Amino acid sequence: AWRPDDDDHHRRGSSGPVRVRVPAKVNLHLGVGPLRRDGYHELNTVYHAISIYDELTARRGDTLTLTMEGEGTGELALDDSNLAIRAAHALAGYAGVPPHARLHLRKQIPLAGGLAGGSADAAAALVACDALWGTGLSRDELAGIAADLGSDVPFLIHGGTALGTGRGEAVSPVLARPTSWHWVVAVADGGLSTPAAYRELDRLRAAGTAGAPLGSTDGLLGALRQRDPRVLAGCLGNDLQDAALSMRPALADTLKAGEAAGALAGIVSGSGPTCVFLVRDAADAERVAAEVAAAGVCRETRVAHGPVPGARIG
Ligand code: ATP
Repeated sequence: AWRPDDDDHHRRGSSGPVRVRVPAKVNLHLGVGPLRRDGYHELNTVYHAISIYDELTARRGDTLTLTMEGEGTGELALDDSNLAIRAAHALAGYAGVPPHARLHLRKQIPLAGGLAGGSADAAAALVACDALWGTGLSRDELAGIAADLGSDVPFLIHGGTALGTGRGEAVSPVLARPTSWHWVVAVADGGLSTPAAYRELDRLRAAGTAGAPLGSTDGLLGALRQRDPRVLAGCLGNDLQDAALSMRPALADTLKAGEAAGALAGIVSGSGPTCVFLVRDAADAERVAAEVAAAGVCRETRVAHGPVPGARIG
């Protein structure tokens, strides 16, 4: 007999649609170390999940298909190159089940924006298909598959605020008293390629024109334990920012507009071109978002808060 408890649901899979919401990430600290032999840079980063979400729905099907709406519709390939499809294949291969599902994505995370939207969709697909197929993997098993899909994918399963090391795939949660930080997100026109940003940083470093690399994350971790956004503002940093500014000089105007609007600090998110601004509170976020939007230095602004949980059903 059908017993609608969690365990049962987990073993048998779900007959109905499974809907998973997954956040975007920003890096509060992105320290880029030396290039490793495997082509990745050694990272020392603090990830932070913010309230801009993609939503992935998984339904039973006879094959594996993907449809989408929202950010990037018409630009983003829906074939095997899509990270949601790759995640479903990876999970099916690991668990020894047929990769049959109808996936639908509602994308709000801008494409190639430095907010890890593709990684978010991979994390969402792992969590959704695990429930749909009843494969019942632990969070750690899912994180293992996630790491093979991309450096940011394990973090997007966990969410919150977390330290990332290795190439970013080794995550451990940052414990802090519950505090919400408020952000304004300035979305740029068009994306930037993450590998290109790392190559540009290597070039600037070889030429001796890159800024000094960030130090340890200790200052930032200390700031997160205090509840004062002015203290946190002084500790945000991104080694890829010089590279993003070099490839997209107009981002300097975006950062200036945020400061002029009264943001406590502004940084390029990840490899850019999205810029994020730390503000005092939710009301300030609305005001700064409107002012930056009016300055005409980005495609649009959004308000967000963090930390929020990673990929979750419901
Ligand atoms: P990151 O910060 O992780 O480097 P990003 O935010 O700069 O990523 P994404 O939106 O994750 O960029 O996408 C980078 C590229 O990944 C896209 O240009 C696209 O070619 C590819 N990609 C594959 N699947 C997806 C997906 N589901 N959503 C977005 N991009 C995807």
